[in-house]
Amino acid sequence: MCGIFGVYGRPDAATITHLGLYSLQHRGQESAGIVAVDGESVARGTRRMGLVSDGLTAREMEALPGHMAIGHTRYSTAGSSVLENAQPVLARFKGGHIALAHNGNLTNATEIRGTLENSGSIFASTMDSEVIVHRLARTHSGAPEHMLADALDGIEGAYCLTVLIGETLLAARDPRGFRPLVVGRLGDGWVVASETCALDIVGASLHCEVAPGEIIAIDSRGLRSIQLTAQRPLSRCVFEHVYFARPDSYVFSGSVDRARRALGRRLATESPAPGADLVFAVPDSSNAAALGYAEASGLPLELALIRNHYVGRTFIQPTQAGRDAKVKVKYNAVKEVLQGRSVVMVDDSIVRGTTTRGLVALVRSAGAREVHMRVSSPPITGPCYYGIDTPNREELIAATHSLDEIAAAIGVDSLGYLSLDGMLNAVPGGPHGFCHACFSGAYPTAAPLVDLHRAGKDM
Ligand code: AMP
Repeated sequence: MCGIFGVYGRPDAATITHLGLYSLQHRGQESAGIVAVDGESVARGTRRMGLVSDGLTAREMEALPGHMAIGHTRYSTAGSSVLENAQPVLARFKGGHIALAHNGNLTNATEIRGTLENSGSIFASTMDSEVIVHRLARTHSGAPEHMLADALDGIEGAYCLTVLIGETLLAARDPRGFRPLVVGRLGDGWVVASETCALDIVGASLHCEVAPGEIIAIDSRGLRSIQLTAQRPLSRCVFEHVYFARPDSYVFSGSVDRARRALGRRLATESPAPGADLVFAVPDSSNAAALGYAEASGLPLELALIRNHYVGRTFIQPTQAGRDAKVKVKYNAVKEVLQGRSVVMVDDSIVRGTTTRGLVALVRSAGAREVHMRVSSPPITGPCYYGIDTPNREELIAATHSLDEIAAAIGVDSLGYLSLDGMLNAVPGGPHGFCHACFSGAYPTAAPLVDLHRAGKDM
């Protein structure tokens, strides 16, 4: 998953982008980058491995002058975790510069790359996103939004893009609308971001959501929009509401906080825990769901797990070794709260079960008498081909284990998941128009030819 950002019409575009990327850090922690374009149409960029705060300094932004910029935070779902694969991609072609930042996964990138390579293209990275840049360089002139529409023709899968071509900032969203993307107003300028929390941090107000299949072009004449000709059924990623997006964001025009509370309330109705003394969240992503569960069940909400905020999201680590080490240092349990109690532990999802097993052991060692696990989404039984790192089917505990087996494996007294219907009816704008393939197996596109995760995340 990734976070993308863009600014047009502000003299300090790189600095604003830098700030915006801080708010999109949760969407990717492996690398961060910014490209800015100045009044002479000179594009300059910087890309670094690691967090925004590790890699990009305020000082460095001074070396990126210009009134337009794009930025990216990344974790690798296609292409390995190396600097060549950090974004934005910056390339020069006959018409000048192209800079591109991509959130999502293209499902037919392997085929398109093969065709491009057969006709002489050389690739500088293993990212699926680079095929769009090559396609752009081959389009015939025209307005930048038409160049991008041509380049995207025949490309399948999930993409939200911010692109700089010449003097134009483009924002595009695939026709199924898998990932969120919004446009904001900042004084006389414009801002584009994956989530509204990134508008808030720079002081921009929400102007509109980029519609599925829409390309918005922003230049000195203002904002204009075209629609891609390909029409596809709406497939917004429900997991953005369940886990990925920040609760202070609105995604797909709905409040993530409200979505998570509603998921928690529904979970309490579908899967109560009679006799329990209290409920607590696995912080932070399930805080709002646990609030909803407490509200609907009447159980008190307690803070039983303390999270070390200096350790990143467990899964946003490309290797299992990295993930295991982080689980141990990320949480501690509050004995005072747990001693002798029967507790409901609410989390938003179980993927491999590794973190959950460790947490349950922690909660028991802190003295909990009974542990009842409640999950505010259904069992994850399939990988995501659209940008979330839920890799091989065999690694997903719910793909190969029954409910009882999962309960035994993670060591709980009882386990309850939210139903698919319950989830889809709880999220704003539901129950239709969402992709829930990782829960239901109903994939909205053909599977990619090469399973990116099996291939070591390289194309
Ligand atoms: P595990 O018990 O190892 O399956 O880990 C479960 C935890 O991972 C839950 O707390 C989720 O909030 C979190 N999680 C779920 N999906 C992802 C993801 N794609 N990236 C990072 N963390 C995730």
